[in-house]
Amino acid sequence: MNKKYDDAQIEELAVAELKKYGLYELPIDVHRLARYKNATIYTADFEDKSISGMISKKGKSYSIYVNREHSATRNQFTIAHELGHLILGHLDGDRQSITDEQLNMYRRDYTNDDERRLEVEANKFAAALLMPTEFVIQVWNECEGDLEAMARRFRVSEAAMGYRADHVDRRG
Ligand SMILES: [Zn+2]
Repeated sequence: MNKKYDDAQIEELAVAELKKYGLYELPIDVHRLARYKNATIYTADFEDKSISGMISKKGKSYSIYVNREHSATRNQFTIAHELGHLILGHLDGDRQSITDEQLNMYRRDYTNDDERRLEVEANKFAAALLMPTEFVIQVWNECEGDLEAMARRFRVSEAAMGYRADHVDRRG
């Protein structure tokens, strides 16, 4: 069994990782974080078009694959999600790899409870990593809540931005 994380722990961990490597600035550089985490990113041609990405480990190094046909913002989210699996220790046990189909931050229909928990945790981590609360509040004020402008600053989809903006306490 993997350690369970609550929402506040995931938020803290994502910010701590960014600060630790000097990456706490927009847009978040997930490629650099991946390098610090010993993960190599590959763009792949998946035969199954519904696959967003996957992560696998070999010894102490990791490979992250993202779908070549998906947009840059979608792949940015996928990389952050796969880094969530890595940083939250989802591959520390017997699991050698995790494959993600139809990845998006709202998805909740996973087949079993353990898988579901890992996916929900990785999605929350990805949102917290790409859109740290402090920046969401700051950029919300600068952009006067214009989600399209905000999404460009964070290099995420407008849908992901809107979802995050609704779930962050902006009173800061
Ligand atoms: Zn996943």
